[in-house]
Amino acid sequence: MSITLRGVAGAGGIAIGHVHLVSETTVDVVHLVLPEEEIFSEINRFDSAIRETRTQLEMLWGSIPDNAPAELGSFLSLHIMLLNDPALSRDPRTLIEEQRCNAEWALMQQLEVLLAQFDEIEEDYLRERRADVIQVADRILKVLAGHSVVHSHAQLATDVDTILVAHDLSPADMVQYKDIEFAAFVTDAGGATSHTAILARSLGIPSVVAMHNAREMLKEGELVIVDGTQGIVIVEPDETELAHYRQLHADWAQKKISLTKIRTEAAVTMDGVAIELMGNIELPQDVAEVHENGGSAVGLFRSEFLFLSRDDLPTEEEQLEAYKAVAEALKGQPVTIRTLDIGTDKIPRWFERGTGINPALGLCGVRLTLAQPHIFQTQLRALLRASAFGKIQIMFPLLSETRQIRQCLQHVELAKQSLREENIAFDEDIKIGGMVEIPAAAINVAGFLKHLSFVSIGTNDLVQYTLGVDRGDDQVAHLYNPAHPAVLHLLAHVIRTANRMGKEVSVCGELAGDPRFTRLLLGLGLKRFSMHPSSLLAVKEVVRTTDTGTLEASADQILAIDDEDQVLPLLDTLNV
Ligand code: PEP
Ligand code: MG
Repeated sequence: MSITLRGVAGAGGIAIGHVHLVSETTVDVVHLVLPEEEIFSEINRFDSAIRETRTQLEMLWGSIPDNAPAELGSFLSLHIMLLNDPALSRDPRTLIEEQRCNAEWALMQQLEVLLAQFDEIEEDYLRERRADVIQVADRILKVLAGHSVVHSHAQLATDVDTILVAHDLSPADMVQYKDIEFAAFVTDAGGATSHTAILARSLGIPSVVAMHNAREMLKEGELVIVDGTQGIVIVEPDETELAHYRQLHADWAQKKISLTKIRTEAAVTMDGVAIELMGNIELPQDVAEVHENGGSAVGLFRSEFLFLSRDDLPTEEEQLEAYKAVAEALKGQPVTIRTLDIGTDKIPRWFERGTGINPALGLCGVRLTLAQPHIFQTQLRALLRASAFGKIQIMFPLLSETRQIRQCLQHVELAKQSLREENIAFDEDIKIGGMVEIPAAAINVAGFLKHLSFVSIGTNDLVQYTLGVDRGDDQVAHLYNPAHPAVLHLLAHVIRTANRMGKEVSVCGELAGDPRFTRLLLGLGLKRFSMHPSSLLAVKEVVRTTDTGTLEASADQILAIDDEDQVLPLLDTLNV
């Protein structure tokens, strides 16, 4: 009999395939097949991870306080002994070479062999050492994660009907998945707008997140259906379910094809209102996907992805190359580049400060760059220099005070001044804007707009901060509700205030790419939407089949609702 597991819809669509569990340790591991020329450096990577793990354990052992329990010392020396055993520190090298696989996968395979041996042991003390072996392997995997490399020509060693099931995947991990094919993925952790889910959407495959314990419930190789639209996973489906979902899958694929027909059509409503539909990107190469989906401009370039997956800060020249590449690829169309937005779930390896007591309320977003002027100045100089090659706009994340805006503008002026002194060209009239992601910014948007040319509403964070629900915490994912009346009131206030003041306003959070909300946003007066490229065509279709005539009154009706359960049913009546 089939079982249905519920999670949170990550990315829409249907996939039918076999489960591939990512690993038994707390670190998830994928199986990559590497090109011949990368084998040697992969073995080196493994060796240096072993060395670094040994140094870590020895340092811990050397710093045990005198009054610590005696077991601590013996526990650490046992771990050092296990690490020094060739079964852990040498045999995986042979596997890397023989199977042309990544170091993590070789280690996991060897771990399985060792664990099977432990299971045979009858003596209790020795059998209990099984957990220690897992802990040592875990430590090596974490060190390896700190030295991860992008295997550009690697392939996932599975078929395309593979459903990847992981505990969690960090935004940095997800960047590596961009070139690897699988049919869908399911995670225990995360929420609908966690950065992992957003990146999953960028892979254009269905996903379900916040499953809590999928990795325990699902078995390797089991047949499952992933319904990324409903946020469910059906385990061992029967023939009727399979037939139903095969049909839905075919309809979904067909719909994707038919949407491509409007790729070059204008985004204009039936009554002639022109709407700007822009793409959100994480890396310069994502511009191609914006173009493939009929978008011309970029409303949000999350620049922090240039700062992840590396051990040091990108230099001014490296950043210049990336910003310039996007500006040139857009051929005069604008790109809004957001300054570094890290400190919550996106933590680069070079970042040593730690994340604070409550990362999302701590030193993150613009607060962090204002506290680290050298990082800020380098980025601003690179952005300004790139503005000589295309239409760049700069945007600051996570603003809560007008004082921060004044400080940011002073930083821009400082960067401009330094470039003038060096006779380096840049766009003197570059537009500067800010994100509205914190309720304080939404409520005081009129004050913000006295200093800024434009604002963009980041609904992912706005929902989080308005409802007090961590966007990445699977335990409260059911409370994360963009259709909450309080969120809608803030949205309405920001859009209407900006329109009244004659300033540009856009939405660049995930809400902008959800076709269910398109008519409501149009009714509130929104003309500029920025979303993941894979959503552009579906939203364009809604725009092109909408008459805005009565939408303002409909939006007011929705705003009059004070019970969150009544919002979606009324919203749905707009979409029939
Ligand atoms: C948002 O918060 O809505 C947003 C667009 O920024 P990010 O998702 O990168 O936090
Ligand atoms: Mg945000």
